[in-house]
Amino acid sequence: MKEGLLIVVSGPSGVGKGTICKKLLAGFKGVNMSISATTRKPRDGEVHGKSYFFLSEDEFQEKIDNDEFIEYAKVYQNYYGTLKSVVMDMIEKGQNVLLEIDVQGAIQVKEKYEKAIMIFILPPSMKELKERIIGRGSENDESMNIRLGQAQSEIDMIHNYDYSVLNADLKTACKQVESIIIAETCKIRK
Ligand code: 5GP
Repeated sequence: MKEGLLIVVSGPSGVGKGTICKKLLAGFKGVNMSISATTRKPRDGEVHGKSYFFLSEDEFQEKIDNDEFIEYAKVYQNYYGTLKSVVMDMIEKGQNVLLEIDVQGAIQVKEKYEKAIMIFILPPSMKELKERIIGRGSENDESMNIRLGQAQSEIDMIHNYDYSVLNADLKTACKQVESIIIAETCKIRK
């Protein structure tokens, strides 16, 4: 059976990558989302096993020790990681897997799995990015400043990616990500 694709989507906090991924999952049959593990506390409405696997620091450390992650990273004071078992099982079954992960983790994935398709989502401007994070209302001042401070250094890592998608208009951005996945599905691998 043909292996599924491993598609990595990154971009600064507030850029809308989560929304793009959710829209893709809802409207496009060609991808499945991998659920990450995190030590972050659930936000309102987030469900264990759907949004994330919410773990204690000890549980997360145990999985690091057992080499259960393809990648993991500390992002904005919490740990996040992609479980090998979840991803490899889906790829082997021929399913395309979407990972919505930070830049540090994305680079680890590319090092271990060269075939990964790397997509970076860009904001129209830093001003717009700040407004989107404020509008989301889920961060306190400290957390927001950390996220904004890291945004530029994340954008500086764009050379590690294969594609960039500007999220000025959600529908256009989704269409572009979908088109990348369709093109990669049709690609002749040499
Ligand atoms: P949030 O706390 O807003 O859900 O996510 C914060 C950041 O963690 C986002 O940039 C998101 O892409 C990243 N993230 C989510 N899951 C993972 C993961 O499994 N690994 C890594 N490296 N980053 C992740």
